[in-house]
Amino acid sequence: MWNDEPVFCPKCAGRLRSRRVEGRVRPSCASCTYVFFRMPASASAAVVLDRGAVLLVKRRNEPYRGAWTFPAGYQEVGETPAETAIREAREETGIRVAVTRLLDVLYTRDDPRKPGNLAAFLCRPRGGRLRAGDDAEEVAYFPLRAVPREIGFRNNRILLERVRREFEAGNGRRRTR
Ligand SMILES: [Zn+2]
Repeated sequence: MWNDEPVFCPKCAGRLRSRRVEGRVRPSCASCTYVFFRMPASASAAVVLDRGAVLLVKRRNEPYRGAWTFPAGYQEVGETPAETAIREAREETGIRVAVTRLLDVLYTRDDPRKPGNLAAFLCRPRGGRLRAGDDAEEVAYFPLRAVPREIGFRNNRILLERVRREFEAGNGRRRTR
């Protein structure tokens, strides 16, 4: 199911077979004690808002090629989740951002590369110039009320809807004051 699952033991090069270990069937070495534990990846997304508009990236690659998503990517070793969001925003959109707050951590089930935990950070732009990075076909700000129909990843759709509702509720309060 995952593309990073080993076929041979990384310790002794013996063949792995499926065996029940600690409550789950896991690839386990027939010759030594090695067991492969599947673990979700860690990823971060930058939900960049600028006066009611959200920054989205049109994906150049699968999965969800051609759909729009938040700038996001896998966390590197030595990087905090917030730093990952800031770096991905810069790499994919050219925009420098600051993190305002953590919105949520959501489990990603619809990424065929690997399931993962996505830490989504609300961010504000601090500078830079809009330009698509290597992974993006296009980058653009969209009014929260008029985002593209094709949004990649279920988590992105959930977060977009939540942010739109929060923004509209906040705006409503300001208008009544
Ligand atoms: Zn082995």
